[in-house]
Amino acid sequence: MSSNNGNPYIPYRVNIIDAWYEAPGDRCIKTFKVTFDDEKVWDTWSHRPGQCAMVGIPGIGESMFCISSSPTEKGFLRFSIMKTGKNTSALHELEKDDSFYIRGPLGNTFPVDDWKGKNIVTVGGGIGQAPLRPVIQWVRDNRADYGELELIYGART
Ligand SMILES: Cc1cc2nc3c(=O)[nH]c(=O)nc-3n(C[C@H](O)[C@H](O)[C@H](O)COP(=O)(O)OP(=O)(O)OC[C@H]3O[C@@H](n4cnc5c(N)ncnc54)[C@H](O)[C@@H]3O)c2cc1C
Repeated sequence: MSSNNGNPYIPYRVNIIDAWYEAPGDRCIKTFKVTFDDEKVWDTWSHRPGQCAMVGIPGIGESMFCISSSPTEKGFLRFSIMKTGKNTSALHELEKDDSFYIRGPLGNTFPVDDWKGKNIVTVGGGIGQAPLRPVIQWVRDNRADYGELELIYGART
């Protein structure tokens, strides 16, 4: 199972290696690709599709976000964050080479092992696609284990 030295209460500093906007507007969505500041954290970090992390900036706040990268994508984690309030607005100010802190992995996972041999349909809209992305990437990276992969996706922009 997933673990982070067995303690998801420890905040780890991550550095932004890339950042880009997925959607414009008042409730814009920005994706951050990050890696652990301490590379040794990768030795103990493991997450499963569907799990989340608390993402924070000291002195500003901490909020829950899905880890939108699949465990099959090595060397980085992704978070796609919609700007809604205090913490997300501060996170949106951050760019490549800036840092924030994460705690996790937290929460349940999608039962991707039970789905082996089945056709997969994902249904999501807007930022709701964030927790589905790791499932889609997981299936693509384990293509022989699954049947057809179909995405149903709604977006305002
Ligand atoms: C399991 C889980 C997974 C999630 N995954 C994602 C994800 O992948 N991507 C993503 O973008 N989001 C995700 N979220 C949502 C995300 O956690 C919230 O958008 C985030 O916590 C908002 O933090 P904030 O400090 O920016 O907003 P806040 O400042 O807390 O504000 C949030 C909303 O409340 C309103 N508000 C604040 N204070 C008041 C008040 N006093 N009175 C009335 N309204 C108020 C704000 O205007 C805003 O609309 C997830 C949430 C959960 C629980």
